[in-house]
Amino acid sequence: MARPTKPRRDAKKSSSKESPHKRERLGRTRELAALLTIAETATQSLDTDKILQDTLDKSVDLLGLDVGDIRILDPDTRNLVVRVARGLTSSEFLAVKISLDSPKRIVGKIVFETQKPYIATDIRKDPTFKTRTLEQEGVISAAFVPIRSKKRVLGQLTVGSRRLHRFSKTEIDLLMAFGSQLGAALENAQLYEEVSKSKAYIENLVENAGDAIISTDTGDRILTWNRGAEVIFGYTKQEAVGNSLSILLTPGHSQELEEIRNKVVVAGVIRNLEVRRNRKDGTLIDAAVAVSPIRDKDESVIGFLHLAKDITEKKRYEKRLKELDKMKSDFVSSVSHELRTPLTAIKGSADNMLDGITGPLNEKQVRYLTRIKSNADRLARLINDLLDLSRIEAGKIDLRPTSLPVVLLTKEVAETLRPVAAEKLISLEVESPDAEVTAWADRDKLTQVLVNLIGNAVKFTPAHGRVSVAVQRDGEEWVKVSVADTGLGIPSEETNRIFDRFYQVARADKQKTKGTGLGLAISKALVELHGGKIWVESEVGRGSSFCFSLPVRQTLNSEVSPN
Ligand code: ADP
Repeated sequence: MARPTKPRRDAKKSSSKESPHKRERLGRTRELAALLTIAETATQSLDTDKILQDTLDKSVDLLGLDVGDIRILDPDTRNLVVRVARGLTSSEFLAVKISLDSPKRIVGKIVFETQKPYIATDIRKDPTFKTRTLEQEGVISAAFVPIRSKKRVLGQLTVGSRRLHRFSKTEIDLLMAFGSQLGAALENAQLYEEVSKSKAYIENLVENAGDAIISTDTGDRILTWNRGAEVIFGYTKQEAVGNSLSILLTPGHSQELEEIRNKVVVAGVIRNLEVRRNRKDGTLIDAAVAVSPIRDKDESVIGFLHLAKDITEKKRYEKRLKELDKMKSDFVSSVSHELRTPLTAIKGSADNMLDGITGPLNEKQVRYLTRIKSNADRLARLINDLLDLSRIEAGKIDLRPTSLPVVLLTKEVAETLRPVAAEKLISLEVESPDAEVTAWADRDKLTQVLVNLIGNAVKFTPAHGRVSVAVQRDGEEWVKVSVADTGLGIPSEETNRIFDRFYQVARADKQKTKGTGLGLAISKALVELHGGKIWVESEVGRGSSFCFSLPVRQTLNSEVSPN
């Protein structure tokens, strides 16, 4: 009666009954030769079906048997499915899928779970073979071995005989070795398939990218040219490949590619280089290019990868935008100037009248004149802010930076605002772990930013609140100033927008905030002019903390920026 094999005991039993002829047939040399050919097919061929068929044929032939099949696990359905068969033809047998999740005791499942061979010397007497499909094919003895790779079972190799056959230990060992060879080969083929799929996927991406993706050798000869390159530069792949990339250069720029190559070799990669390029039809386009080296496995540069984006439209748009922006700035500054003159006259006259120059005033007249004056002041502030902003935006502001004692300056500003804070019983403190900390900044501009932020903090904090200003070093290169208050706070979705011109947070009490909505826009522009950053952290009802950073010292590299 057949049972799951313990190969060692079985082998002992059967090997004593082996004929000398049979032993010879299974001579070590032939076994090794067979293993070798399987290993060779497996490494040379990535065609799974060929590997499977070859291994099955070798297994059946070498053992002098009649039939065999290989089932492979479909990981999605967890079924073992026949992939190749020899001498087995009934559709009942070939179509049967062995489910690993079946509750029944099935040989395929046993082999899969135990990872050991299952030997049935006489399947007619083995109760495990209930469906009798093998028996109907005339099979009497059969061996089932796992196809394994790195402890993972990928399938099952079956060989069978139509005569009673006792599998010897040597035969079983050999079948197991076939199973392992096959496992490794299948895994290779699977890996290859995955790599090919990813390769095809990437090739597809490159081919259909909107940008030009071009590779060249070290002498600028074009090796690959995608659809994007065809569209942007007008040359077809056939026209471009093999040609020099210099076909795209504009007259007088013949050295450009060499310069780019040299830069890439030194810097590793070039990003966002704006260049002019010549299309096939002679039109000039603006392109943003990125170039990186292609290296072989020894790290030597064997070519270059060029990515190019057509930015002609963007450039044209930017130019127009700049023109419009300049027109707007000019308009704002001329209108502001025009407004300032009459406003000065209004303010001066109101001042004079309030000073009694035009004679004594009754209480009502004083009230009216005071209102005229305060509104004229507000208007003047708005005009000044507008002028400031348009000057900054037009690049008309010259910074005169020096090394400034930030703590001292902050304390001075706090003092000027103390009366306003005191009126609302707001405490106003300046703290710093280092009183000597300096920033490389323009005194007037830094004052303006501080007045703005501390002024806002006092303005948007209810009576009895607290405003605390902290000055501290932020690493070696930066000074950070933060102005924290216990005021209204700013909803998170608005924290970015408050730095926009004229943006004011809508108040819950619908009360219109006095102010221009320009202070933070100006502060942001001024801080950024110094190379710093400004930001806010806030929670509605708890308060806000406005922070900005300034460089400690003059930096040559203007690209350095705080985190
Ligand atoms: P203004 O103060 O003149 O309105 P700003 O540009 O200085 O203009 O500020 C814009 C808006 O940001 C303010 O109207 C207010 O809604 C909000 N804001 C600024 N600072 C604070 C603060 N400390 N607390 C709460 N809201 C603030």
